[in-house]
Amino acid sequence: MSDIPTKARVVVIGGGVVGCSVLYHLGLKGWTNCVLLEKNELTAGSTWHAAGNVPTFSTSWSIMNMQRYSTELYARLGAEVDYPMNYHQSGSIRLAHTKERMQEFERAASMGRYQGIAMEIWTPEEAKEHYPFLETHDLAGVLYDPTDGDIDPAQLTQALAKGARDMGQKILRFTPATGVTQQADKSWIVHTEKGDIAADYVVNAAGYYAQRVGEWFKPYGGRTVPMMVMEHQYLLTEQIPEVVAWSEEHGKKLPLIRDVDVSYYLRQEKGGYNLGPYEPNCKAHWEGGDAEMPDDFSFQLWQEDLDRIEDIVTDAMERVPLMATTGVSSVINGPIPYAPDGLPLIGPMPGVDNAFEACVFTFGIAQGGGAGKVMAEWIVDGATEWDMWAVDPRRYTDYTDHEYCVAKGMEVYGNEYAMHFPWHRWPAAPDRKLSAVHARVKALGGQMGDYNGWERANWFAQEGDDTSEEATHTWARSGPWEQRIREECEAVRDAVGVLDLPGFSRFNLAGSGAAEFLRTQITGALPKIGRMNLMYFADNRGRILTEMSCVRHDEDSFTLITAATAQWHDFELLRARLPEGLSLTDHSTEFGTLIVTGPQSRALFEQIGTEADLSLPWLSHQSATVAGQPCSLARVSFAGELGWEVHAANAALPAIYEALLAAGAKPFGMWALNSLRLEKGYRAWKGDLSTDYSLFEGGLERFVKLDKPQDFPGKAALLAEKQQGSKKRFVTLLVEAGDTDAPYMSCIYSGGEIVGETTSGGWGYRIGKSIALGMVRADLAQAGTELEVEIYGTRYKAVVQEDAPLWDASNERLRA
Ligand SMILES: Cc1cc2nc3c(=O)[nH]c(=O)nc-3n(C[C@H](O)[C@H](O)[C@H](O)COP(=O)(O)OP(=O)(O)OC[C@H]3O[C@@H](n4cnc5c(N)ncnc54)[C@H](O)[C@@H]3O)c2cc1C
Repeated sequence: MSDIPTKARVVVIGGGVVGCSVLYHLGLKGWTNCVLLEKNELTAGSTWHAAGNVPTFSTSWSIMNMQRYSTELYARLGAEVDYPMNYHQSGSIRLAHTKERMQEFERAASMGRYQGIAMEIWTPEEAKEHYPFLETHDLAGVLYDPTDGDIDPAQLTQALAKGARDMGQKILRFTPATGVTQQADKSWIVHTEKGDIAADYVVNAAGYYAQRVGEWFKPYGGRTVPMMVMEHQYLLTEQIPEVVAWSEEHGKKLPLIRDVDVSYYLRQEKGGYNLGPYEPNCKAHWEGGDAEMPDDFSFQLWQEDLDRIEDIVTDAMERVPLMATTGVSSVINGPIPYAPDGLPLIGPMPGVDNAFEACVFTFGIAQGGGAGKVMAEWIVDGATEWDMWAVDPRRYTDYTDHEYCVAKGMEVYGNEYAMHFPWHRWPAAPDRKLSAVHARVKALGGQMGDYNGWERANWFAQEGDDTSEEATHTWARSGPWEQRIREECEAVRDAVGVLDLPGFSRFNLAGSGAAEFLRTQITGALPKIGRMNLMYFADNRGRILTEMSCVRHDEDSFTLITAATAQWHDFELLRARLPEGLSLTDHSTEFGTLIVTGPQSRALFEQIGTEADLSLPWLSHQSATVAGQPCSLARVSFAGELGWEVHAANAALPAIYEALLAAGAKPFGMWALNSLRLEKGYRAWKGDLSTDYSLFEGGLERFVKLDKPQDFPGKAALLAEKQQGSKKRFVTLLVEAGDTDAPYMSCIYSGGEIVGETTSGGWGYRIGKSIALGMVRADLAQAGTELEVEIYGTRYKAVVQEDAPLWDASNERLRA
């Protein structure tokens, strides 16, 4: 008889650093009857050969949070679980070769300080003082992070495993999971060669095998895990006497170097160096066909390929000439999984109940600690402390086929340290989902962006405009797009514009009791029949889960429209809670949307010919024809002008679009729309609207009906917050910005103290001012309060505005 347990609350598949961290953190939350299955020995996947670097740097707030948590955990873990390990917080210096890179560092340093990380900006001379072997003559500056360092990945994994075991968790080594079966009650049977384990929840933490494990979940609603595998090498050098001497004299390691503009890390390993390049001419692995991934690659490596990284090695030897005085002692070349954006998958498994993913980690050593915390919160609490959309598996939908994953993975790897400029589009694997008028939009000069795989115009270029990739390498507002955005906004302000907006997520909900079901889910009220409104879903803590537009066709028949990127997130939210007898269907790909807005939009429709009643008020909804084509018209405008959304089946869309253009509507793009919505204070999902904030903090009181008879998630928490008062408040700020507007998560200061953060920002072309939306300490939210916003290292005066739109405060234009 096998001695494996027959029951577990959670089965974690995979015993790398991430699986062990998940098991450890489940134990910390009191779930101590969980099991981890490892097919080989712990660390046998990517973990054993990792370089072990543990940075906190990120320009994403949540990723930095997760990594910061890891560093704090690793610093105390050895003592806490009585498993001493090598963890050196040697600090790191990131080298900047350009002004733009320095701006990126300033932004990250500011976010870091807000999180309590004492990051500093150094001059090249200061860097030289701390790192005498560094050539600094061509540098613009340096970012110093005192918390950065390196850890022994195997020791870390074993420490997490020991901590988990000490709490009662079971780790079964040499016990591959071989499949899963879901029971009628949605719990699981996890199969192994040694017997079955019944589990309430399953976590796929199988590292670069995650796609294979993910296939088992397809019969239960799952999809192919979006990932690919890259080859990553680092080389170790022989000892260097000067490095040894410096280390002995200072009693510590040299700071870790990241030359991000050249694309490598270089850190002290014992008395020599560890050099790890992310080369542009990189190599994907196991792409299918003959190159199929083997069933078992435990503790294996690939043949070294130094030719590929030769240029970068040469560069590093010029940067730290000591490197050239020694020889290479060994090369490690191992598999590293990549999701298309290079971030891991941490969260609910899309489409599958009671299953989670904590896999596809590119920086699993740095992120493993935080990932364990996040995963345990998902499983035990059903929600995470921090908004973790950046790593949520539902951020990808059905467009991530193998070809896409390989192209994007290689692009990310080859640009691992690249700057992510707001105007720049990464070029690999475009055109995943096309609107019915895509070719026409392109022909009009559309410069496209990708929204959940859908191609939408960001702006429309004209003859002679510079549309090169290089032109977009700037944080500044100005560029070839600026004048065009201005013209597009002015057309919407003065005449009428049209925006082709494919990919709106669109769900139909129907069946007896649908209205009552919705009332128990949303914080506010439903629209009347024939009308539409905005509705909000909160989590149990009253925080903002999502926002949907709700069109009510009948007593119990609704169309719910939501952001393109929210497609799987929002569908899952409804599906998981749907009572029997109701039908929920996704029609996102069947329809397109044209935003037609501006003071002349009514006249434009009349000119084209429509059966619609154009006198119906704001927030009305009707079936109609436009240019002889069937469609529906929704009287709303995210741009804040008179306008309608035209929703039409794909086949009907081209004729309507042509008629609108022929009648004089000016095409405008997403960047103009962003400017227009900022002037109205309209929030964007996962920027301004996130689970980092409650509805009251987000200034959404008018969408919360605490006195309605139905209970809903978050009601008790919102009631309590109403009594106690909110800690933060949403504000609109006018910023006396320079040539750059405030990006997401810029720190807001009062008297030298950080008191909040921006959630989005940009230039308002109708009001001619720089706008930031953000959250500040509640006592600073009164109109007229003077604050400062730090934008790429410079603080600018910002004034809190009245709680009303900056443009058309009384919505007269909208209701015209
Ligand atoms: C050369 C190199 C250097 C790196 N350097 C760094 C670095 O400096 N810092 C950093 O943060 N990251 C680094 N990484 C990345 C890091 O190694 C990975 O992100 C991390 O190890 C991933 O951990 P994991 O637990 O998700 O996956 P893995 O360590 O791959 O663990 C997954 C486990 O699942 C097991 N498994 C798979 N299928 C099954 C099954 N059916 N049943 C049971 N068990 C199964 C596997 O055997 C494996 O042990 C480096 C990677 C490489 C290749």
